[in-house]
Amino acid sequence: MKKVYLDYAATTPVDEEVLQTMLPYFSNKFGNPSSIHTFGQETRSAVEISRETIAKILKVKQSEIYFTSGGTEAINFAVVGAAEAIKNETGKNHIITSKAEHHATLETCEYLSKRGFGVTFLSPTNNGNINPTNIFNSVRKETALISLMHVNNEVGAINDIKSISDFTQNQNIVFHTDAVQSFAKFDLDLSEIKVDLLSASSHKIYGPKGAGFLFIRTGTPISPILHGGSQERNRRGGTENTPAIIGFAKAAELYYSNRQDYFNHAEKLRNYFKEKLLIFPQEEVTINFSEQISSPYIFNISVSAEKFRISGDTLIMNLDINGVAVSSGSACTSGVVEPSYVLLAMGFDENRASNAIRFSFGKSTTFEELDYAVDILKDILNRLRR
Ligand code: PLP
Repeated sequence: MKKVYLDYAATTPVDEEVLQTMLPYFSNKFGNPSSIHTFGQETRSAVEISRETIAKILKVKQSEIYFTSGGTEAINFAVVGAAEAIKNETGKNHIITSKAEHHATLETCEYLSKRGFGVTFLSPTNNGNINPTNIFNSVRKETALISLMHVNNEVGAINDIKSISDFTQNQNIVFHTDAVQSFAKFDLDLSEIKVDLLSASSHKIYGPKGAGFLFIRTGTPISPILHGGSQERNRRGGTENTPAIIGFAKAAELYYSNRQDYFNHAEKLRNYFKEKLLIFPQEEVTINFSEQISSPYIFNISVSAEKFRISGDTLIMNLDINGVAVSSGSACTSGVVEPSYVLLAMGFDENRASNAIRFSFGKSTTFEELDYAVDILKDILNRLRR
């Protein structure tokens, strides 16, 4: 059976060149970067070169990049670390975020809300992005931190982080952005976009899983969340995952140098897929994103619960049985399928939010793969038409 992977926003395979770069660091180049002997110095130097590679992509200082175990840890570090440090220094205890954030941000903010912080969760527009004016209007004198994702992982909506950073820069408010779906794919020149904190992850750009980083602009108040070692300049204890860090930097370098070609390819795929889906009338299959303000890598649709006897999750299983791997926004908690909280926050009803599926494209996705996915989708929906 043909196998078509269209879930690149969930994760990507490790690029061959990335793998080859990593391999020696599992075996003969195994030194602990904190050791002072030559084994340690060899890996220390490779980690620092990796840091420099990433810093150059963002146009920041090497000393402003802190490696973590992935996007989730980087976000926890940013949100908890900054919120606590600011509260200790100034007493400010208000956070602004959005209802469309990844769980890593949402649940971290919920955690802080039980520990003396007030959190404002803003609703996105029906395009999935946050209107910057809503942020500006939510600021209070005790606002310490704003955390807003750059590109939404479910619908691909892009937030205007430049406008928000222009604003926060003059307000003494720390601004964190979750750039897990955009780092190396989009131009993020942090000498222009004045975010204070930015988190990213390796496995979305053909790097290994379990590696990420937090950018911390010099002077940003932040406390460590992992204690017990002096690694990462006393800010993130724990022996560095050297093969993963080195692989991440290689993946970032490769992706970033080809970003325009990959982006153009993704745009062509998105247009092609949209054309193909026109075989379904709008009342049967609805598109859940706005092309003007969304990432071309992410394509989210809902199938009508009135027209078809199917939910998002069963549709995903049916697609999978036929070799097509995609994701749903809905979560399955204790056997009950919950509708996508992102689509609900965008103002859509439970049916549309429960019947959403996300296709996401990679650099090697072909038009033939999309033909195949649409053919399978057509077969499934025709069988399940009410
Ligand atoms: N933020 C966004 C927007 C994501 O898409 C993801 C992963 O799906 C994460 C954070 C978490 O990153 P990681 O898987 O590296 O922990």
